[in-house]
Amino acid sequence: MDAMEQSIFVHDEPKSSSSKRLQDKVAVITGGARGIGAATAKVFAGDGAHVVIADILDDLGTELANSIGGLYIHCDVAKEADVESAVKLALAWKGKLDIMFNNAGIGGFGGSITAMDMEQLKQLLSINLHGMVHGVKHAARAMIGGHIKGSIICTTSSAAIMGGLAAHAYSLSKAAVIGLVRTTACELGAHRIRVNCISPHGVPSEMLVAAYRHLMGNADLSIEEISKIIGERGSLLHGRAGRVEDIANAALFLASEEAGFITGHNLVVDGGYTSATTNLS
Ligand code: NAD
Repeated sequence: MDAMEQSIFVHDEPKSSSSKRLQDKVAVITGGARGIGAATAKVFAGDGAHVVIADILDDLGTELANSIGGLYIHCDVAKEADVESAVKLALAWKGKLDIMFNNAGIGGFGGSITAMDMEQLKQLLSINLHGMVHGVKHAARAMIGGHIKGSIICTTSSAAIMGGLAAHAYSLSKAAVIGLVRTTACELGAHRIRVNCISPHGVPSEMLVAAYRHLMGNADLSIEEISKIIGERGSLLHGRAGRVEDIANAALFLASEEAGFITGHNLVVDGGYTSATTNLS
C-alpha cells in the first residue's frame, strides 16, 4: 500500500466508542430552549460539546444553558442578524463552529389551499425556511473561514414528504428545507462540510401537542392521550410514539464523525410512519 492509499485509510477515522463523540466540538442549536432542541443540547453536551442555545424563550434557554455549561443567546431565526450573532458568539467563545443544528420551527395548520392566508404563509416561511437559510449561510461562512470540516443539520418533517396533513404552508416550508440541504451539500462538499436534515414525526412536544389539539378540535387533550393516538395511528411500532431523545440521538449521529461519509441526506425518524402505504393520521 503506498502513502496515498494509507492516508485514505487513516483519514478522519471515527473515534473509538469509548471516547466522547463530540469532545471539544462547538455547536449552535436554534430552537434549543425546549422540545427536540433542548434534548439535543443535553445529548451534545453529554457527549463533550460546548453548546450555544439560540432561541426566543429567554428564561428556559438560559436555565438550560447554565445546566449544561453552555451559553444562551436571544435569537429570532427570522432575523438574519440574530442568527449571525449566535454564530459569532460561538466563534468569540471557543474560536470555531463545528456543528450547526438549525432546528427552530413553528407549526402551521391552515386548512384548505383555497383559503390560504398569504400573510400567515410569509410569517411561517420567515421562520421555517428563511431561518434555516440564515443558519446554513452563517454556519457555512464560519466553517469555511475557520477551515472546519463541520456538520450542518436542519430539522424538517415527515410533512415534507407526505400529503394529507392539511398543513400546506408547513409542509411546503419543510419540503423547501430538503432542497436547501441537498443543494448546499453539493456546494459545501468541496470544503468537507456535511449538510443533512432530519425528518421527525410524532414527538409530542409543545408544538405537536398544540397541533393535535387544534386538528382534533379538543383543547383538553392531554399529552398522554396524544401520545396514545400517535402510537396507534402514526407509528408502525405498535403503541410507541416518538420521544425527543429519538431525534436528539439522530442529530448526535449526523454531527459525529461516525456520519463522516453522509451528506445531502434526509434522515427520517418517524417510527415507520412514512413507510406506511396509507396515511395513518
Ligand atoms: P417545540 O415547540 O417544543 O420547539 C420549537 C423551539 O423553536 C422552541 O424552543 C421555540 O421557542 C423555538 N422557536 C420558535 N420560533 C422561533 C424563532 N423565530 N426563533 C428562534 N427560535 C424559535 O417543538 P419541537 O417539536 O421540539 O420542534 C423542533 C423542530 O422539529 C421544529 O422545526 C419542528 O417543525 C420540527 N418537527 C417536530 C415534529 C414533532 O413531532 N415534534 C415533527 C416534525 C418536525
